[in-house]
Amino acid sequence: MKAAVIESIGRAVVTEVPDPTPGPRDVVVEVAACGLCGTDLHILQGEFAPELPIVPGHEFAGTVVGTGAQVTEVTVGDRVAVDPSLYCHECRYCRTGHNNLCERWAAIGVTAAGGAAQYAVAPVANCVKLPEHVRTEDAALIEPLSCAVRGYDVLRSRLGAHVLIYGSGTMGLMMLELAKRTGAASVDVVDLNPARLETARRLGVSASAATPDELDRPQGWDLVIDATGNAAAIQDGLERVSKAGTFLQFGVADYATRVTIDPYRIYNQEITITGSMAVLHSYERAAELFAGGVLDPDVFISDRLPLGQYPQALDQFAAGVGRKIVVVP
Ligand SMILES: [Zn+2]
Ligand SMILES: [Zn+2]
Repeated sequence: MKAAVIESIGRAVVTEVPDPTPGPRDVVVEVAACGLCGTDLHILQGEFAPELPIVPGHEFAGTVVGTGAQVTEVTVGDRVAVDPSLYCHECRYCRTGHNNLCERWAAIGVTAAGGAAQYAVAPVANCVKLPEHVRTEDAALIEPLSCAVRGYDVLRSRLGAHVLIYGSGTMGLMMLELAKRTGAASVDVVDLNPARLETARRLGVSASAATPDELDRPQGWDLVIDATGNAAAIQDGLERVSKAGTFLQFGVADYATRVTIDPYRIYNQEITITGSMAVLHSYERAAELFAGGVLDPDVFISDRLPLGQYPQALDQFAAGVGRKIVVVP
């Protein structure tokens, strides 16, 4: 089959690899579309994936074309979206409900061959069937949405919150769509990139600007979400949290990023600083929200490129052009 392969640091190619074979509780999925995200760039830079080469792609959906001997839950022809998480279910974190922090954390498209290929293997337990009206090629959005749902779980948002989101890339926009549905009193978005901000405005924001200085809220925001991973944005965001408010680190920063905190204010104003990592018990709910129309795939997916252009798709993503880019095998 044809697959994208990250062969070594900085080198992605599209090449022929052997067709995958399912284990007894696995299915083979013919991929309809696979999304790219920052994780793929990290893998390209030699982070996250313990071993190269790897077939990347952890955001995908497709049609079941083969099943292992012990699979009864899905059959050939079913359309599924795939939760890429592979937990050990044995370590202390798994056993205490923190599976996304598993000591042997693994994921399809990160530590095992992924969906940037004609076919991918996944445990049947990771597959969620798609309802009739959901287009298979749009369902690659469910995985990033499930990360946003996990982020919202961590926030423990209350009705009437004033929310500030840094970044209006795909993840910031997903947070925006969730915030609008969780009873926020206001949802503001800031981004230095005016083209991206325009999309946020189109989806509907209370206010938007290049920086919070242009927004009239001197008392700060109850919930501040960083969806950039950028040090300057994070530093600024920490200072915009209102009394009793929460800052969520949702964007993926580089390992070396450092910011300063104000311990007196954290104490005196009961500020919470927290983070959310990937998916935790949120994939199924994301699939249901997606089926319910929580976001418009035609807005969120800006580019659908052929699988053969995977290296160019990575370049385009790295350059920050567009929103979600998917490759279509
Ligand atoms: Zn991702
Ligand atoms: Zn574990």
